Amino acid sequence: MPVRLLAFVLWQAAGAALGGWLAGERGALAGALAGAMAWFLADLARGWRVLNWLRGGAEGEPPAVAGPWGESADRIRRALRLRERASAEAAERLQAFLSAIQASPNGVVLLDAQGRIEWCNQTAAGQLGIDPERDLLQHVGNLVRDPVFADYNAAGDYVRDVVITARDSSPGRPVRLSLQLHPYGEGRKLLLARDVTAIEQADAMRRDFVANVSHEVRTPLTVLAGFIETLQQLPLGEADRVRYLALMAQQARRMQSLVSDLLTLSRLEGSPSPGVSEWVAAGALLAQCEQDTRSLSSVLGKDSHELAFEAPAGLEVAGAAPELLSAMSNLASNAVRYTPVGGRIEVRWRLLPDGRAEFSVRDTGPGIPPEHLPRLTERFYRVDRSRSRETGGTGLGLAIVKHVVQRHGGELRIDSRPGEGSTFAILLPPARVRIVTPERDGASAPRATATP
Ligand code: ADP
Repeated sequence: MPVRLLAFVLWQAAGAALGGWLAGERGALAGALAGAMAWFLADLARGWRVLNWLRGGAEGEPPAVAGPWGESADRIRRALRLRERASAEAAERLQAFLSAIQASPNGVVLLDAQGRIEWCNQTAAGQLGIDPERDLLQHVGNLVRDPVFADYNAAGDYVRDVVITARDSSPGRPVRLSLQLHPYGEGRKLLLARDVTAIEQADAMRRDFVANVSHEVRTPLTVLAGFIETLQQLPLGEADRVRYLALMAQQARRMQSLVSDLLTLSRLEGSPSPGVSEWVAAGALLAQCEQDTRSLSSVLGKDSHELAFEAPAGLEVAGAAPELLSAMSNLASNAVRYTPVGGRIEVRWRLLPDGRAEFSVRDTGPGIPPEHLPRLTERFYRVDRSRSRETGGTGLGLAIVKHVVQRHGGELRIDSRPGEGSTFAILLPPARVRIVTPERDGASAPRATATP
């Protein structure tokens, strides 16, 4: 400021000196006035340049003017740059935040105080059929028309969610959505949409399973209770008593196998998959399976089935031997139980050209109609209900086989046609298969040969 005053005085003094030199005392006065005017005009020109720069949006460098105008322009420029940087950072943060919400597996819709859509992520757009651009500021009730949601939205109690059927749901592929509103800010709401199809299906499966188990247990239990009552109340002859006790034992065995299969299933579900370090000879597994199968077949009568067993020498598979044996025995026992007397059953292990090992059970039984094949491994799914019960089936055998196969990274193949018998095959991946050849010198240690 003092510099500015000094400049003003100097301009006046210079004008006065020039005026005085040219026209005496009056000239000095006029000169001083002219000096003051010239200083004022020069100052106005500087202010004008700064104002023009501001009117142009303060783009680029400010005009190079001296004095307070120049300093003001410079300070304005710095303040503007700081604000621009802050708003760019805020926009970047907002973008990162929106990208994170975009990546969410759940649908997110932001609603204004009137319930109109302000923003939604792609997941919500797909789930609720919203076009993120066209439907902006549309009322959410116009787009999510399910009456369950309309009532929920109107009631204003958002403590719980509501479940609706999604727009793209079809009978073959049902999709169920959980919707919940979360109020925030001044009357705004966040609508969260979650695909709960799998959870609902798991719930339904659990309910079915509990109902099935209860039903399976109740039937033999009712029979047993009936016999016990009869034995308690009626004076039975020895023959009747023996017959009743035999029937009771049969029902008890039925419950035992059911509980044992249920325990096997729960063990399979609750334990880690078997590693690839435990090797077991396919021949040894087959020998055990043959023993079980022959004794089951003999129960049905002497020479009831023509049975054939075969395994290549040296074939070894990696996994849990008890589980593999249980899967093999289940397939072989099904063949025996469903193939009428006189039929032929072939049980064998073989090495496939691609390095996998196949365990197959082929029978000349009744075969299975194609519509049942996709559901055979479901728990308690039976094609021939009465035959299954008569022969002590629990309806869990193939479910156990499927679990064992999956835990060993394998595949279960079912090939069957009515009237043409069935072939059930377990395929194990090459990583679980090897051929060992005995040492030439007769030493007991086997030698592993890489499979193709
Ligand atoms: P189950 O204990 O009833 O035998 P599974 O799960 O082992 O239960 O088999 C499911 C159903 O598949 C059986 O009830 C039967 O109807 C059918 N099934 C299984 N194996 C055979 C087979 N080898 N031949 C014909 N039907 C079979």
